[in-house]
Amino acid sequence: MKDITNHLPTAELQALDAAHHMHPFTAGAALAAKGARVITAASGVTLTDSEGNQILDAMAGLWCVNIGYGRDDLAEAAARQMRQLPYYNTFFQTTHVPAIALAAKLAELAPGDLNHVFFASGGSDANDTNVRLVRHYWAAKGKPEKKVIISRKNAYHGSTMAGASLGGMSGMHAQGGLPIPDIVHIDQPHWYAEGGDMTPEEFGLARARQLEQKIAELGEDRVAAFIAEPIQGAGGVIIPPETYWPEIQRICDAHEILLIADEVICGFGRTGNWFGSQTFDIRPDIMTIAKGLSSGYAPIGGSVVCDEVATVVAEAGEFNHGYTYSGHPVSAAVALENLRILEEEKIVEHARDVAAPYLKAKWEALADHPLVGEAKICGMMGSIALTPDKASRAAFKNGPGQIGLICRDHCFGNNLVMRHVGDRMIIAPPLVLQPSDIDTLIERAIRSLDQTHDKARAEGLLVPA
Ligand SMILES: *Cc1c(COP(=O)(O)O)cnc(C)c1O
Repeated sequence: MKDITNHLPTAELQALDAAHHMHPFTAGAALAAKGARVITAASGVTLTDSEGNQILDAMAGLWCVNIGYGRDDLAEAAARQMRQLPYYNTFFQTTHVPAIALAAKLAELAPGDLNHVFFASGGSDANDTNVRLVRHYWAAKGKPEKKVIISRKNAYHGSTMAGASLGGMSGMHAQGGLPIPDIVHIDQPHWYAEGGDMTPEEFGLARARQLEQKIAELGEDRVAAFIAEPIQGAGGVIIPPETYWPEIQRICDAHEILLIADEVICGFGRTGNWFGSQTFDIRPDIMTIAKGLSSGYAPIGGSVVCDEVATVVAEAGEFNHGYTYSGHPVSAAVALENLRILEEEKIVEHARDVAAPYLKAKWEALADHPLVGEAKICGMMGSIALTPDKASRAAFKNGPGQIGLICRDHCFGNNLVMRHVGDRMIIAPPLVLQPSDIDTLIERAIRSLDQTHDKARAEGLLVPA
């Protein structure tokens, strides 16, 4: 029995939801007036809602269901672990088999000498760990002043106080007194929106060199680390120009700055390799992981740490940090089973050699649509920019997000989950997507773009800013 069919009528569920459930990143009153979509089941790449609609999930939940929905092996791994040992902590000089096995497996999969794992419950709290870890590391090396962390505008690193401070989302900084001290932001390598007349290559270099300028301005002995997503995800799937990452790596090396790659989205096959750091040929000192680590079947995240940082921290006495659920045995068992499936079923290879090339050709052809200014994709994450004027890459006069939201709603109406970030439409589908699913995805995306274009034209919204 897979489906829960005895739920209340949709309207009653929506009323209870509106009365009692506070949603993340949501205008509560507006949603309450409209009623939330109720998802009741999922299998493969398809969601079922409470009205029986079958929806192609081109966002893999929130970028996480890499192996697809409905895998019994993961349910069984969780049940087995719950019976054997549902919980124990890893504080006070204790450990347990799932945490040991998962840490060892991650050390094997991670590039270079990233051989040590500090577990968290998700990506945000893993980044909190990173803030404390890198500052503690430099203090242990006798450089307590080396504590500033440089990040980027429009980055996403989570929603805790430290995660959202590291992130560069102005809307998040505007609420709750962020950012916390000693976190600074440089500009993002977003050529389409900010590149002006530069070539992407020139622009990538210019944006990377802002890091060197910022280090010079602050003083090298005050900067602990630079953190970035290999590809900005929540910021709009912004794939940096080819010149960007090599220059960032050079600068971090030249100035003794730790490089933290936030691989929460890019990790576990999303870019066509196990980690985005491999796709962009960078050598992070720490990687943040979460999401695809368990394909979202259980909450887990972590920091994968290089030998040098882990050794210094281990020898510096007690690291006064940890979470009740660090290395939670059920989550760890689920993650291990997920990694086994990714490996044994060669899902990363499927993404790289089958799904991504097929998707790329069709996705990039969306750039021919009259409403689309660019269509970019790397592995299994892609974006298109909506514009009223292709030649000038113009934004819309009415400000960001209006047309994107219209398009998102049409996608929902066409049984496709495609998300909007301002006026960028983004996808990050399960890696197990088959060519026939991709045909469906593209067909629904084109229909949604056509409907959006018609509506925008009819309402006179196709006006450049
Ligand atoms: C989602 C995300 C996070 C936060 O992870 P949570 O599990 O939601 O706390 C951090 N970094 C990146 C790049 C993310 O996409």
